[in-house]
Amino acid sequence: MRVGGRIVREILYDLTSMTRPGITTWDLEVTARKRFSEKKARPAFMGYRGFPAALCTSINEEVVHGIPSPRRVLKSGDILKIDVGLYYKGFYTDMAVSIPVGDVDEEKLRLLNVARGALRAGIDKAKVGNRLGDISHAIQMPAEEAGFSVVREYTGHGIGRHLHESPQIPNFGPEGSGPRLKPGMVFALEPMVNAGTWETRVLGDDWTVVTVDGRCSAHFEHTVAIMEEGSQILTDYRM
Ligand code: MG
Repeated sequence: MRVGGRIVREILYDLTSMTRPGITTWDLEVTARKRFSEKKARPAFMGYRGFPAALCTSINEEVVHGIPSPRRVLKSGDILKIDVGLYYKGFYTDMAVSIPVGDVDEEKLRLLNVARGALRAGIDKAKVGNRLGDISHAIQMPAEEAGFSVVREYTGHGIGRHLHESPQIPNFGPEGSGPRLKPGMVFALEPMVNAGTWETRVLGDDWTVVTVDGRCSAHFEHTVAIMEEGSQILTDYRM
C-alpha cells in the first residue's frame, strides 16, 4: 500500500501541476489514464458501480464524485477537487486534494486551509489506543469553529483489499466513541468541508454531489496506516 500510495501521490502531483485556467477536467482525466498505464496500476474508480472515469473532478459547489468532461473548462477563481483511487498489486489507496485555480478569493482560500487543517487534525488522532470517534471529532471541531460545516452523508472509510471497507469514518461525532484503533488498520480519511450548510444533493447524472445552497466545498483525503510506532500517511504529499 505504501508503494501504491506513492504512485497516487505522483499522479496527483502531475495533475495539480497542470491545473490552470483554460484546461478542461477531461485534460486531467487523459493525463491520469496515461500515468496509470505507465505505472502499471489500475484506476480504482473506473467502473466502480459504473463510474465512468479514473478521476473524480469536482468544481466549487460540487462536493465529490464530479465526472471529468471536455465541456468543463477551468476558470480563474475556481476551486478544483481531484480525487484519485488506485489499485496496485492487490491493494487500494485513495487520495484527494482541493486546489485554487488562478486567482481565488480570500474566503475560498480560507475554506481550503481549514479543510486541510481538519484532515491534519484527524490524522494526528489516528494512533494506537485512540478511538475512531477521536478522529471524527478532531476533524469536525476546526471546521465548525471556523464557521464552516462538515458533510454528513459521505464519510471516510477503511481501505485495503477493497476500496471501501468498514468502518465508515464520519467527519463529525463525539470523541471517545467507537472502536479502538489498532496496528494494521488503514483508513482513508477525507473531510468534506462546506462554506455554508452541510446538506448536499446528487445531480441528474446520478454521481455529482453538490451543496444544496450552492456554496463552495473543499475536500482533502489521505490514506493513513495505524502503526505501533506511530501512524504513517501512505499518500503523503506536499504541494
Ligand atoms: Mg475515499
